[in-house]
Amino acid sequence: ASGQATFWQGFSEPNSGTDLLSLQTEAVRDGDDYVINGHKIWNSHAGISNYGLVIARTNSNVPRHQGLSMLVVTSDTPGLDIRPIRSLTGGIYHYEVFIENVRVQKDYLLGTEDEGFIQLLGGLDTDRFWGRFYKAPYLRRLLNQLVDYANTTQRNGRLLAHDPIVRQKLAGFATEIEALRMMFYRNGRLIKEGLPTPYESALNKLYADETGQQLTAFGMELLGMYGPVKAGSRWAKLHGAMSHAYQTSIGHTIAGGTSEVLRTTVATRGLGLPRDKRS
Ligand SMILES: Cc1cc2nc3c(=O)[nH]c(=O)nc-3n(C[C@H](O)[C@H](O)[C@H](O)COP(=O)(O)OP(=O)(O)OC[C@H]3O[C@@H](n4cnc5c(N)ncnc54)[C@H](O)[C@@H]3O)c2cc1C
Repeated sequence: ASGQATFWQGFSEPNSGTDLLSLQTEAVRDGDDYVINGHKIWNSHAGISNYGLVIARTNSNVPRHQGLSMLVVTSDTPGLDIRPIRSLTGGIYHYEVFIENVRVQKDYLLGTEDEGFIQLLGGLDTDRFWGRFYKAPYLRRLLNQLVDYANTTQRNGRLLAHDPIVRQKLAGFATEIEALRMMFYRNGRLIKEGLPTPYESALNKLYADETGQQLTAFGMELLGMYGPVKAGSRWAKLHGAMSHAYQTSIGHTIAGGTSEVLRTTVATRGLGLPRDKRS
C-alpha cells in the first residue's frame, strides 16, 4: 500500500456511541447520489485524512440493525465541516464532523445498501486486534524508561531501584506485558488461519488498555511531582513521555468499545453467561 488514501471512521454521534443503532445521520438517495445529513463526533484523524467512512441510516422501515449503509466521503466535499477537539494532552487527534447536505455518488457506497451494520461488525474484531497490536512493545518501552529512571534516581538517600515496592511493581508489569505479547501472538495466529475469535480480540484489547492505564499511573507515581510536567519544560523527566502516555491511556478504554462492553463480550461469548436483560 502506498499510504496515499487515508480514512477516518464516522460512526459515533453525540447521542450514539455504544448504542450505535440509535444513530441519527441519514443518507437519502437522490438520482445517482446520496445526500447525507447528520453529526459525527470523536472521529480520530478526520482533519488529516483524505476520506471518511460514514455510517448512516438509509432505511427506517426495517429493524434497527438493518437499514444502515457505509458511504465513503471525500474530506473536502462541500457541506462537510470538520472541527478539531483538543485532547487532555493539548494535542488534536479527534474531530467533530457536521454533515449538511453532503452529496456522494452512489458508487461511493461501500458494500451493500442497508447492510452497513453487519459489515461494521465483521470488521470490528480485527480492528480491535490491529488497533492494539502495538501495545505490548509500546508498554515495554515505557517500562524500560521507568527501569532506567529507577536505576539512576535517588529518593531519600537511596536509589529507587533498591526500594522493594518499586522492584515488585516493575517486575509485575514486566510479567503482564510479556503475557500480553503472547496473547496478541495467539490472537494473530487465529486471525491469520481464518479461525473464529469470538471473544479473544475483546479480551486482549481490554487487557492491553487496562494494563496501559495501570503502568502509566504507576509511572506518574514513581516520577512524583515531576510526573505531570510536560515535554519542553526543563523540569520534565523522561521527556514528558509518561505524562503524555498517562493522559492518552484514559481514552483507550473508551475507544473501539468501552471496557464494560468488552467485558460483556467476554462474559457472554467467552464464558457462556446469559445476555443482559434490557430494561
Ligand atoms: C480516544 C477515542 C477515539 C475515538 N475514535 C473514534 C473514531 O475514530 N470514530 C468514531 O466513530 N468514534 C470514535 N470514538 C468514540 C467511541 O467509539 C465512543 O466514545 C464509544 O463507543 C463509547 O460511546 P459513548 O462515548 O457515547 O459512551 P456511552 O455509550 O454513552 O457509554 C457511557 C458509559 O456507559 C457504559 N455503557 C453503555 N452501554 C452499556 C452496556 N450495554 N453495558 C454496560 N455498560 C454500558 C459505557 O461502558 C460507558 O462507561 C473514539 C473515542 C475515544 C475516547
